[in-house]
Amino acid sequence: MTAKIIDGKAIAAELRAAVKAETHRLTAAHGLVPGLAVVLVGDDAASKTYVASKSRALVEVGMRPFDYHWPADTTEAELIALVQKLNADPAVQGILVQLPLPPQIDPARIIATVDPDKDVDGFHPLNAGRLASGLPALTPCTPLGCIRLVKSVQASLAGLDAVVIGRSNIVGKPLAQLLLAENATVTIAHSRTRELAALCRRADLLFAAIGRPELVRGDWIKPGATVVDVGINRISDGGKSRIVGDVCFAEAVAVAGAVTPVPGGVGPMTIACLLVNTLRAACTQAGLPVPEI
Ligand code: NAP
Repeated sequence: MTAKIIDGKAIAAELRAAVKAETHRLTAAHGLVPGLAVVLVGDDAASKTYVASKSRALVEVGMRPFDYHWPADTTEAELIALVQKLNADPAVQGILVQLPLPPQIDPARIIATVDPDKDVDGFHPLNAGRLASGLPALTPCTPLGCIRLVKSVQASLAGLDAVVIGRSNIVGKPLAQLLLAENATVTIAHSRTRELAALCRRADLLFAAIGRPELVRGDWIKPGATVVDVGINRISDGGKSRIVGDVCFAEAVAVAGAVTPVPGGVGPMTIACLLVNTLRAACTQAGLPVPEI
C-alpha cells in the first residue's frame, strides 16, 4: 500500500485565499483592517524566521502586522506593560507573543496577561478551559491545522480511535480536545506511556507531537491509518542539516492510508490557522458574525 500524501501546503494556500476574501469583505463593508501584534523578545534564529513569515502572511491577506522586536534582556515587568498596552489598543485585535521567552520571563504570566479575546494563539487558561468545556474559544493554531488536514481525507472522525503522542498545552492537549469534539475516541500518550508502539498500532488516527526525530516507525502504524506528523526536528545528515518529523516518513508511506510530510504538512497550516483566528478575533470584538471558513 502507498499512502496518500496530505498536501498541507496546498490546503493552507486554499485556506489563506478564503481568509483573504473574507478580510477584504470585512474591510470593504466595515472599514475594519484586522491587526495582529507579533511580539518577539531576544534573537532566537528559529523564532525570528517564524515571526517574519507570520508578518508576511498577514500582509498577504490584507491584515496589519504590528511588529515588536525587543532585546533579550527585556524584563518581565516591561513585557507585561507592553501586553497591557496592546490589550487596550483598538487597532490591535490579536496579540501573539512568540515562545520561547528568555529565562527571566515566566511565559505563564505573559500568557495570562493577554486579553482572552485577543489571544489568537489560544494559550490563555480561559480559552483552554472554554475549549475543554465545549464552549466557543480561540483555539491553538497547530491543533486546528491538524484537524483540517485529517478532515481533508476523512469527512467524519466519529467513533474512530485517535492516539495523540504528546501532551503539551500548545499541541497535544488541545488537539485531544478537538478530536473529542469530533466524537473520536481519544488516547493521549507521553514519555511515561507503556507499550507505546502497541498503543499506536490500534489507532485509526495517529498524531505525533513529540519532538523526537523519526521516533514513530512503520510497524507502529495500523495499515490504512491516517498519520499526522507535527514534529519539526533539525538533524545533521552526512554533514548537511535537514528537517525531519517525529514519524519515519519512508516507512509510514508504505503502511498508512494517508500521511502528512515534513516539511509541507502541518507547518503551513499553523500560519493559515493563525490568520483564521485573527479574523475571528476581529469579527468577535467588532460584534460581527464570524465567517464560516
Ligand atoms: P513539548 O512541549 O516538548 O512536548 C513533547 C511531548 O512529547 C511531551 O508530552 C512528552 O512527554 C512527549 N514525549 C517526549 N518523548 C517521548 C517519547 N519518547 N515517547 C512518548 N512521548 C514522548 O513539544 P511540543 O511543543 O508539543 O512540540 C512537539 C513537536 O512539534 C516538536 O518537534 C515541535 O517543534 C513541533 N511543533 C510543530 C509545530 C508546527 O507548526 N508544525 C507547532 C508546534 C510544535 P512528557 O509530557 O511526559 O514529557
